[in-house]
Amino acid sequence: MADENAPRPAVEETMIIGSGPAGWTAGLYTARANLNPLLITGNDYGGQVSITYEIENYPGFPEALSGPELVEKMKEQAEKFGLTTVYDHVSEIVTDQHPFIVRTASGKEYKSKSLILCTGARPRYLQVPGEKEFTGKGVSYCATCDGFFFRGKDLVVVGGGDSAVEEGLFLTKFATKVRIIHRRDELRASKILRDRAFANDKIEFVWNTVVTSINGEEGGSVNGVSVENTVTGEKSELKTDGVFVYVGHLPNNDLYHGKLHLDEDGHLITDKKTRTNVPGIFAAGEIQDKVFKQVATSVGQGCSAAMQTEKFLAELESEGYHGGVDPREFPSYAPFTATPTVTAKTPERELVPA
Ligand SMILES: Cc1cc2nc3c(=O)[nH]c(=O)nc-3n(C[C@H](O)[C@H](O)[C@H](O)COP(=O)(O)OP(=O)(O)OC[C@H]3O[C@@H](n4cnc5c(N)ncnc54)[C@H](O)[C@@H]3O)c2cc1C
Repeated sequence: MADENAPRPAVEETMIIGSGPAGWTAGLYTARANLNPLLITGNDYGGQVSITYEIENYPGFPEALSGPELVEKMKEQAEKFGLTTVYDHVSEIVTDQHPFIVRTASGKEYKSKSLILCTGARPRYLQVPGEKEFTGKGVSYCATCDGFFFRGKDLVVVGGGDSAVEEGLFLTKFATKVRIIHRRDELRASKILRDRAFANDKIEFVWNTVVTSINGEEGGSVNGVSVENTVTGEKSELKTDGVFVYVGHLPNNDLYHGKLHLDEDGHLITDKKTRTNVPGIFAAGEIQDKVFKQVATSVGQGCSAAMQTEKFLAELESEGYHGGVDPREFPSYAPFTATPTVTAKTPERELVPA
């Protein structure tokens, strides 16, 4: 295992940004390729997996395991081969000079010949009155973290995808009743989760409905939600003790605006080889994948990005490269010209999930 306090080279071979499944996998592969990689965890250690109660669909674990357990296993495996983990958050990357520069919230500055960007995604907020005010006081985005505090309570889950249903099922371990409020009249969740939810006595569905505000006493906690029927327009109030929000995700792309090509939803544009538009910068996981969004797919993309990084560094070395040139001028690298080139910004992060 690499020592976090051991001196680092003046220029890193590769740095990985993000500690979700894509990041750990990139760490594992680049470590085994003897690239002495450095991974910066970001503020959300372990990424989305660490807020997942149970992972049943990651191959190799037939008994299922909790998200945090999986994170620790991935970390341990990567560190065993030499990955160095740094608990910090990246505040800036400089991509128009080589080696690239990575600056962190703690004031550190690194130089690196290549980067693997695995900054994933974060929960989308409902953006309704009361959401910000009651975050941590009845509004949550993480059943694994907060479910325990709602023992014997009445809960509402907002959303209709896999996460909403999966976490709703988990919350029935604590709550007396869980109402899943969904804007449509059928779930997007996979069949196995739908069947389980329909068979669970504690779960009720509130169809064709959106939450318009989250209510509670000033200085107190949540005591209800205002809702509106999307078909009839009828408005009503539902009493509840807590609201768990699972209405999608936004890519964590703050570092990349104006530097790397993003699509209209704010995901990094990569080619099949996980290359961004800047040679030497690769991306994996949900920061560049808006279709599959699974642990297994993020792991696969992390693996691809690491293998491409290794190839890129080998090519650099064979060119006798000594640094200091614009990465777009690397002779052996056929640049990937991504289109369309947009720099869509995801909405400002107004709330910090509990
Ligand atoms: C509630 C829930 C349940 C889920 N259940 C399942 C399931 O059962 N099975 C399944 O396959 N998938 C599941 N998923 C999806 C799965 O968790 C994601 O697809 C996967 O975690 C994406 O991995 P990732 O590596 O791309 O990024 P993420 O897991 O999103 O991690 C992103 C990482 O980037 C870091 N980061 C962000 N910005 C910076 C920065 N500026 N500097 C440094 N680091 C930064 C963060 O700290 C974080 O560590 C679930 C997701 C949720 C939310």
